[in-house]
Amino acid sequence: MRKPIIAGNWKMYKSFDEAVEFAEVVREQVPSEDKVDAVICAPALYLPTLVDVVTETDLAIGAQNMHFENEGAFTGEISPSQLASINVDYVILGHSERREYFNETDEAVNKKVRAALVNGIVPIICCGETLEERESGQTEAKVSTQVTAALEGFTPEEVKHMVIAYEPIWAIGTGKTATSDDANHVCGKIREVVEGLYGQEAAESIRIQYGGSVKPENIEELLSKEHIDGALVGGASLKVDSYLKLLEAA
Ligand code: PGA
Repeated sequence: MRKPIIAGNWKMYKSFDEAVEFAEVVREQVPSEDKVDAVICAPALYLPTLVDVVTETDLAIGAQNMHFENEGAFTGEISPSQLASINVDYVILGHSERREYFNETDEAVNKKVRAALVNGIVPIICCGETLEERESGQTEAKVSTQVTAALEGFTPEEVKHMVIAYEPIWAIGTGKTATSDDANHVCGKIREVVEGLYGQEAAESIRIQYGGSVKPENIEELLSKEHIDGALVGGASLKVDSYLKLLEAA
């Protein structure tokens, strides 16, 4: 059985005080780590403080991006070893917003996945199709290309511990969710891709989240599906109440 993982993606929202207050409240009510992995991916500025606030609780902290080099002349960037040095546990990689607005390529995502593993950080690797790609029947080809590129050059053992987030771009922040059957179908296809690359054990162990307008009203239905092991959640992770409801559903 794969343990569900619910990750909040705060994007570029919340003041420092709001972020700390959220973590202080949620750490007291978060369900046990035996049941669900609860993660908040916060703006980089807040990470050291948030890691401190959640120490010895069942809430984990993740970053939303990082560079693939551990150090170098990359003004404004944050490195995987820097994240590891403040005990960040997760990192979102290849989110569609980064691919679209910051020209992140499949190749860069692959390097970042490698760098995350080297530094003991669990990568949450995003993939997903645009509306145009969906309407022209290219969803499976698109996610398969993205996943194959991101996972190039690993061992089955490494792949087992990764997380993939399937996020149809047209569903992000729009209030439109893929139907649970559609989402499950694509997550199942992703699992087949992983199986083709790394075998059955890796495919059965890797966790695949759905993301795109997940909220307390639709999470149970999504999580009831065979191939959906959790959710990557933007808007609905910003409020304590709705974030806790998402965790309770898992
Ligand atoms: P949303 O965002 O839940 O607000 O649609 C999801 C994401 O971008 O990860």
